[in-house]
Amino acid sequence: MASSVLPENGWFSERYEPGGSAFSLKIIKKLHEVQSPFQKIEVYQTETFGTLMVIDGATMVSSRENFFYHEMMSHPILYSHPAPKRVLIIGGGDCGTLREVLRHPEVESVQQVDIDEEVTKAALKYFPELCESNNDPRAELHFVDGIKWLTEAEKGRYDVIIVDGTDPVGPGEGLFNQAFYQSCWHALADNGILGQQTETPLYHMALLNEVRGAMRHAGFGHMHTLTFPQPIYPSGWWAATLAFKLGNEQTFRADDIANKPFETEYYNLDIHRATLALPEFMRRGLVV
Ligand code: SAM
Repeated sequence: MASSVLPENGWFSERYEPGGSAFSLKIIKKLHEVQSPFQKIEVYQTETFGTLMVIDGATMVSSRENFFYHEMMSHPILYSHPAPKRVLIIGGGDCGTLREVLRHPEVESVQQVDIDEEVTKAALKYFPELCESNNDPRAELHFVDGIKWLTEAEKGRYDVIIVDGTDPVGPGEGLFNQAFYQSCWHALADNGILGQQTETPLYHMALLNEVRGAMRHAGFGHMHTLTFPQPIYPSGWWAATLAFKLGNEQTFRADDIANKPFETEYYNLDIHRATLALPEFMRRGLVV
């Protein structure tokens, strides 16, 4: 569980106790704080990373570097699907992932289901650039528990589900178990893909194997974990795990990526190809 130290001598620090590590940013001032029924949300103005959002003491997003996360949580999974028309985002309250998903012209509808409207309210005020697509006619924003939403979803309703949730604590805890993955499996079409932020392999290999095992027991045929830089999270290196009902990460729309009709800061065809490779310790350590 992260614990944030209030800005002392002008620094915000998130201490990741289990990892014995911390990340700090020099703060100019605190812009916002609200205790919602679910979590404590803080927003700071930093000296070099723009605006910073923190939830329950854990860094969530900064205006300087969020492109790594939002691009890598959306483009690899969408280009790994032959025709991703109907997308569900669980979490994603800062709306950065939603913006990236809506850049894909083949996407016809995106439902975003975040438990906490206070996150989106803070994003609208302090991260307007992440919310620039919120009024896209293809987008629907809902503020309910994503776990409940999926238990009530009709069979085969979605082509892609992206779980852009918090860490497996608090409201996010129930997003990391077999029951949740079974509801995702049920809600996905036959060639559907689930993608979830799955912490960092540097600290969380045991969690990764638990998550991949739960996905397999939920019925998914193949899992692939990809990694990317994530400067403000513990270790600075993050992972997303894709779970396929059919097929695998080897079949992706390379020509569409090469000709993508939008600009990115990080993601491109070479980066996509690189996500197919696993570091040796992960090749050895991922047992599912
Ligand atoms: N996208 C951000 C980034 O750039 O790193 C970080 C993730 S986002 C802020 C995490 C979201 O998950 C939060 O908005 C939180 O409210 C949401 N969340 C946590 N548990 C949830 C649940 N059970 N159902 C729906 N949303 C949930």
